[in-house]
Amino acid sequence: MTNTHPAIRVSEIFGPTIQGEGVLIGLPTIFVRTGGCDYRCSWCDSLHAVDNQFRHEWEMMSVGAVWKNVLALSGGRPLMVSLSGGNPAIQPLGALIDRGHGDGYRFALETQGSLARDWFARLDVLILSPKPPSSQMTTDWAAVEACLQAAQGKPQVVLKLIVFDERDYTYAKDAAAQFPQLPIYLQPGNHTPPHPTNDDAPVDLDGILKRMEWLVDSVTRDRWFEARVLPQLHVVLWGNKRAV
Ligand code: SF4
Repeated sequence: MTNTHPAIRVSEIFGPTIQGEGVLIGLPTIFVRTGGCDYRCSWCDSLHAVDNQFRHEWEMMSVGAVWKNVLALSGGRPLMVSLSGGNPAIQPLGALIDRGHGDGYRFALETQGSLARDWFARLDVLILSPKPPSSQMTTDWAAVEACLQAAQGKPQVVLKLIVFDERDYTYAKDAAAQFPQLPIYLQPGNHTPPHPTNDDAPVDLDGILKRMEWLVDSVTRDRWFEARVLPQLHVVLWGNKRAV
Protein backbone atom coordinates (compact mmCIF):
# COMPACT_ATOMS: atom_id res chain seq x y z
CA MET A 1 0.00 0.00 0.00
CA THR A 2 2.72 2.44 1.09
CA ASN A 3 4.38 2.39 -2.31
CA THR A 4 1.25 3.76 -3.94
CA HIS A 5 1.60 7.01 -2.01
CA PRO A 6 3.53 9.88 -3.58
CA ALA A 7 7.11 10.31 -2.42
CA ILE A 8 8.10 13.01 0.06
CA ARG A 9 11.03 15.37 -0.54
CA VAL A 10 13.05 15.21 2.65
CA SER A 11 15.89 17.49 3.72
CA GLU A 12 16.66 15.77 7.02
CA ILE A 13 15.20 13.52 9.70
CA PHE A 14 16.66 13.80 13.19
CA GLY A 15 15.99 13.33 16.88
CA PRO A 16 14.85 12.59 19.38
CA THR A 17 15.45 16.11 20.63
CA ILE A 18 13.12 18.67 22.18
CA GLN A 19 10.89 21.07 20.32
CA GLY A 20 12.59 24.42 20.72
CA GLU A 21 9.72 26.81 20.18
CA GLY A 22 6.04 27.61 20.44
CA VAL A 23 3.22 25.62 21.98
CA LEU A 24 5.23 22.37 22.17
CA ILE A 25 8.41 23.91 23.61
CA GLY A 26 10.40 21.37 25.62
CA LEU A 27 8.50 18.35 24.34
CA PRO A 28 10.59 15.42 23.04
CA THR A 29 10.14 15.04 19.29
CA ILE A 30 11.53 13.66 16.06
CA PHE A 31 11.89 16.22 13.26
CA VAL A 32 11.03 15.42 9.65
CA ARG A 33 12.24 18.46 7.71
CA THR A 34 11.01 18.59 4.14
CA GLY A 35 12.86 20.27 1.28
CA GLY A 36 11.57 23.31 -0.60
CA CYS A 37 9.73 26.50 0.27
CA ASP A 38 7.55 28.98 -1.61
CA TYR A 39 8.99 31.82 0.52
CA ARG A 40 12.46 33.37 0.86
CA CYS A 41 12.42 35.13 4.19
CA SER A 42 15.29 37.57 4.68
CA TRP A 43 16.27 35.92 7.98
CA CYS A 44 15.44 32.28 7.17
CA ASP A 45 17.29 29.95 9.56
CA SER A 46 16.71 26.82 7.44
CA LEU A 47 18.12 27.78 4.04
CA HIS A 48 19.58 24.29 3.62
CA ALA A 49 15.95 23.13 3.32
CA VAL A 50 14.80 26.06 1.20
CA ASP A 51 17.35 27.05 -1.39
CA ASN A 52 17.44 24.95 -4.55
CA GLN A 53 21.23 24.97 -4.48
CA PHE A 54 20.95 22.40 -1.66
CA ARG A 55 18.54 20.22 -3.61
CA HIS A 56 21.25 17.59 -4.05
CA GLU A 57 21.08 17.04 -0.27
CA TRP A 58 17.34 16.38 -0.39
CA GLU A 59 15.98 12.91 -0.99
CA MET A 60 12.70 11.71 -2.47
CA MET A 61 11.58 9.14 0.09
CA SER A 62 8.59 6.82 0.25
CA VAL A 63 6.25 7.02 3.23
CA GLY A 64 7.62 3.63 4.33
CA ALA A 65 11.24 4.84 4.19
CA VAL A 66 10.50 8.01 6.17
CA TRP A 67 8.58 6.01 8.72
CA LYS A 68 11.35 3.44 9.06
CA ASN A 69 13.71 6.29 9.98
CA VAL A 70 11.31 7.71 12.56
CA LEU A 71 10.81 4.27 14.11
CA ALA A 72 14.57 3.67 14.28
CA LEU A 73 15.29 7.08 15.86
CA SER A 74 12.51 6.75 18.43
CA GLY A 75 13.15 3.08 19.14
CA GLY A 76 9.52 2.42 18.25
CA ARG A 77 8.27 4.41 21.27
CA PRO A 78 5.52 6.78 20.14
CA LEU A 79 6.18 10.49 20.53
CA MET A 80 5.44 13.75 18.77
CA VAL A 81 6.72 14.03 15.21
CA SER A 82 7.37 17.62 14.08
CA LEU A 83 6.87 18.23 10.38
CA SER A 84 8.85 21.29 9.34
CA GLY A 85 10.75 22.68 6.39
CA GLY A 86 10.99 24.64 4.20
CA ASN A 87 7.24 24.67 3.88
CA PRO A 88 6.06 21.13 4.68
CA ALA A 89 2.63 21.95 3.23
CA ILE A 90 4.19 21.57 -0.23
CA GLN A 91 4.76 17.86 0.38
CA PRO A 92 2.11 15.09 0.38
CA LEU A 93 2.20 14.24 4.09
CA GLY A 94 -1.29 12.83 4.66
CA ALA A 95 -0.28 9.17 4.26
CA LEU A 96 2.71 9.63 6.60
CA ILE A 97 0.41 11.07 9.28
CA ASP A 98 -1.99 8.14 8.89
CA ARG A 99 0.87 5.67 9.08
CA GLY A 100 2.26 7.22 12.25
CA HIS A 101 -1.13 7.50 13.91
CA GLY A 102 -1.52 3.77 13.32
CA ASP A 103 1.57 3.27 15.50
CA GLY A 104 0.39 5.70 18.19
CA TYR A 105 2.56 8.71 17.21
CA ARG A 106 1.30 12.31 17.08
CA PHE A 107 2.05 14.96 14.48
CA ALA A 108 2.63 18.70 14.60
CA LEU A 109 3.20 20.78 11.48
CA GLU A 110 4.46 24.33 11.20
CA THR A 111 3.81 26.39 8.10
CA GLN A 112 3.65 30.04 7.11
CA GLY A 113 0.07 29.41 5.99
CA SER A 114 0.48 30.00 2.27
CA LEU A 115 -0.89 26.60 1.15
CA ALA A 116 -3.92 24.84 2.63
CA ARG A 117 -4.11 21.05 2.50
CA ASP A 118 -7.08 18.83 3.33
CA TRP A 119 -4.81 16.56 5.39
CA PHE A 120 -4.25 19.40 7.89
CA ALA A 121 -7.43 18.04 9.54
CA ARG A 122 -5.53 14.81 10.33
CA LEU A 123 -2.78 16.59 12.29
CA ASP A 124 -2.70 16.80 16.07
CA VAL A 125 -1.22 20.31 16.15
CA LEU A 126 -1.12 22.93 13.39
CA ILE A 127 1.18 25.90 13.95
CA LEU A 128 0.43 28.80 11.64
CA SER A 129 3.40 31.12 11.46
CA PRO A 130 2.71 33.96 9.01
CA LYS A 131 5.85 35.94 8.32
CA PRO A 132 6.09 39.57 9.49
CA PRO A 133 7.29 42.59 7.45
CA SER A 134 10.97 42.08 8.41
CA SER A 135 10.92 38.83 6.41
CA GLN A 136 10.27 40.91 3.27
CA MET A 137 7.44 38.53 2.39
CA THR A 138 3.80 39.54 1.88
CA THR A 139 1.17 37.60 3.79
CA ASP A 140 -1.85 36.28 1.92
CA TRP A 141 -4.33 36.38 4.82
CA ALA A 142 -6.97 34.56 2.76
CA ALA A 143 -4.52 31.65 2.44
CA VAL A 144 -3.90 31.65 6.20
CA GLU A 145 -7.66 31.59 6.75
CA ALA A 146 -7.92 28.71 4.24
CA CYS A 147 -5.38 26.75 6.30
CA LEU A 148 -7.49 27.27 9.39
CA GLN A 149 -10.58 26.13 7.52
CA ALA A 150 -8.74 23.06 6.20
CA ALA A 151 -8.03 22.03 9.78
CA GLN A 152 -11.83 21.75 10.30
CA GLY A 153 -11.44 22.40 14.01
CA LYS A 154 -9.77 19.02 14.52
CA PRO A 155 -6.10 19.64 15.45
CA GLN A 156 -5.07 22.20 18.03
CA VAL A 157 -4.28 25.32 15.97
CA VAL A 158 -2.00 28.10 17.25
CA LEU A 159 -0.37 31.22 15.86
CA LYS A 160 3.37 31.74 16.17
CA LEU A 161 4.79 35.11 15.26
CA ILE A 162 8.44 36.06 14.98
CA VAL A 163 9.12 39.63 16.03
CA PHE A 164 12.22 41.65 15.16
CA ASP A 165 10.97 45.24 15.48
CA GLU A 166 8.02 47.54 16.05
CA ARG A 167 6.53 46.85 12.61
CA ASP A 168 6.61 43.12 13.29
CA TYR A 169 5.02 43.71 16.68
CA THR A 170 2.17 45.69 15.08
CA TYR A 171 1.78 42.89 12.51
CA ALA A 172 1.55 40.33 15.34
CA LYS A 173 -1.17 42.38 17.00
CA ASP A 174 -3.07 42.59 13.70
CA ALA A 175 -2.76 38.80 13.28
CA ALA A 176 -4.07 38.26 16.81
CA ALA A 177 -7.01 40.56 16.07
CA GLN A 178 -7.83 38.59 12.91
CA PHE A 179 -7.73 35.24 14.70
CA PRO A 180 -8.82 36.01 18.27
CA GLN A 181 -9.82 32.38 18.79
CA LEU A 182 -6.20 31.14 18.37
CA PRO A 183 -3.59 31.06 21.14
CA ILE A 184 -0.66 33.25 20.12
CA TYR A 185 3.05 32.74 20.74
CA LEU A 186 5.61 35.49 20.13
CA GLN A 187 9.30 34.89 19.80
CA PRO A 188 12.25 37.19 19.18
CA GLY A 189 13.89 36.46 15.84
CA ASN A 190 17.47 35.31 15.38
CA HIS A 191 19.24 38.11 13.47
CA THR A 192 22.36 35.91 13.21
CA PRO A 193 20.86 32.84 11.49
CA PRO A 194 23.12 29.98 10.41
CA HIS A 195 24.78 30.04 7.04
CA PRO A 196 23.49 26.93 5.22
CA THR A 197 27.00 25.52 4.90
CA ASN A 198 28.31 26.61 8.31
CA ASP A 199 26.19 25.94 11.36
CA ASP A 200 29.13 26.87 13.61
CA ALA A 201 28.62 30.57 12.90
CA PRO A 202 28.20 32.34 16.25
CA VAL A 203 24.80 33.45 17.39
CA ASP A 204 24.25 36.87 19.04
CA LEU A 205 22.42 35.49 22.06
CA ASP A 206 22.76 38.75 24.02
CA GLY A 207 21.09 40.63 21.17
CA ILE A 208 18.29 38.05 20.92
CA LEU A 209 17.64 38.14 24.68
CA LYS A 210 17.61 41.96 24.63
CA ARG A 211 14.92 41.81 21.97
CA MET A 212 13.04 39.27 24.05
CA GLU A 213 13.15 41.66 27.01
CA TRP A 214 11.81 44.45 24.79
CA LEU A 215 9.05 42.09 23.61
CA VAL A 216 8.07 41.21 27.18
CA ASP A 217 8.05 44.93 28.08
CA SER A 218 5.86 45.69 25.04
CA VAL A 219 3.35 42.94 25.82
CA THR A 220 3.03 43.90 29.49
CA ARG A 221 2.92 47.64 28.70
CA ASP A 222 0.06 47.00 26.28
CA ARG A 223 -1.72 44.67 28.69
CA TRP A 224 -1.66 42.05 25.92
CA PHE A 225 -2.32 39.23 28.34
CA GLU A 226 -3.31 36.63 25.74
CA ALA A 227 0.17 36.57 24.19
CA ARG A 228 2.93 34.25 25.35
CA VAL A 229 6.53 35.30 24.79
CA LEU A 230 9.08 32.51 24.38
CA PRO A 231 12.69 32.24 23.22
CA GLN A 232 13.89 29.68 20.68
CA LEU A 233 15.14 27.21 23.25
CA HIS A 234 17.38 25.34 20.79
CA VAL A 235 19.15 28.61 19.91
CA VAL A 236 19.72 29.33 23.62
CA LEU A 237 21.11 25.81 24.12
CA TRP A 238 22.95 25.08 20.87
CA GLY A 239 23.28 28.35 18.95
CA ASN A 240 23.03 27.82 15.20
CA LYS A 241 23.84 24.10 15.25
CA ARG A 242 21.79 21.98 12.90
CA ALA A 243 19.88 18.74 13.62
CA VAL A 244 19.91 19.01 17.43
S1 SF4 B 1 8.83 30.30 5.35
FE1 SF4 B 1 10.23 29.42 6.87
S2 SF4 B 1 11.49 27.95 5.72
FE2 SF4 B 1 10.45 29.26 4.19
S3 SF4 B 1 11.95 30.89 3.77
FE3 SF4 B 1 10.60 31.64 5.42
S4 SF4 B 1 11.66 31.11 7.34
FE4 SF4 B 1 12.59 29.90 5.69
